[in-house]
Amino acid sequence: MDFKPPTDSEKLQAIGPTEGLPETLRKALEPGTHFEPVPIPKPGDWLAEHHESGQGFDEFVKSKPNQPGKGRKKIYLQPLGQFPNGQVPLVESLREYAGAYFAMEVEVLPNLALNDNNITTRINQYTKNRQILAGDVLAILRRNLPADAFCNLAITMEDLYPEPSWNFVFGQASLRGRVGVYSFARYDPVFYGRKREKDYEKVLLRRSCRVLAHETAHMFGLQHCIYYKCALNGSNHLKESDSRPLHLCPVCLRKLQYSIGFDVVARYRNLLHFYRKVGLDNEAQWVTSRLKWILGARAAGKIIEQETIH
Ligand SMILES: [Zn+2]
Ligand SMILES: [Zn+2]
Repeated sequence: MDFKPPTDSEKLQAIGPTEGLPETLRKALEPGTHFEPVPIPKPGDWLAEHHESGQGFDEFVKSKPNQPGKGRKKIYLQPLGQFPNGQVPLVESLREYAGAYFAMEVEVLPNLALNDNNITTRINQYTKNRQILAGDVLAILRRNLPADAFCNLAITMEDLYPEPSWNFVFGQASLRGRVGVYSFARYDPVFYGRKREKDYEKVLLRRSCRVLAHETAHMFGLQHCIYYKCALNGSNHLKESDSRPLHLCPVCLRKLQYSIGFDVVARYRNLLHFYRKVGLDNEAQWVTSRLKWILGARAAGKIIEQETIH
């Protein structure tokens, strides 16, 4: 696959004209110096194997994507199966993170047990770990979709497979059905019989946050990003997805802001609060410098200080 990195003018065109937008939003859509170019793909990377033509803001609007509203205003998280010791705080952190990221209400549903719900499982012949048939989970989510749900996303530490001939899958979704299921099993070194690093919980949290941000954004009709390093870049393997940032580039931020209508500064402030609380220092640093870009150092300084005291 021949990936040609977009030129500066193609990037600006993908963001689209910003005249007439409120000043803080206009500034938040100016790339400045905070967004790195997409790296040239190496063999095995996503863009080496998948053709992505890119989706500018204009094309996104024309695609008439699903939007929250008309009573569909909540993101639901459906924990599936057990979250053993060391993983229990994850669900609450992800609820808080999705709330900050999408500036919407996020509710965690009572845990869905595997045994009493007729979910098909098998033992994977290579890993010898149990796996869940993802389609069975999607069917349950669709049947139980709450009336006020924008989407319902199952998260699990169990491994998934999409059909008998496949080895595994990280996740599966139905955008039309507004449901998805995502596994964090393979983000835990124990899955591969390896030892957990000492900062294991933070690594698992960052990976899970990335998956949740990326996959939930797909629910809003955002396609993969080819413009900058961005949470919406596709990824083919763990090393590649670990190298992706949690933040949205201006093209993707504009799409999400258009759909949800959030205040970009309030959103960054809530994200800063979260990143500091859980110790995701690089992300906190990025948001801090972005707020300075948007508001100027003095006004941003006040927000940044307040978020330090809490
Ligand atoms: Zn994706
Ligand atoms: Zn992007």
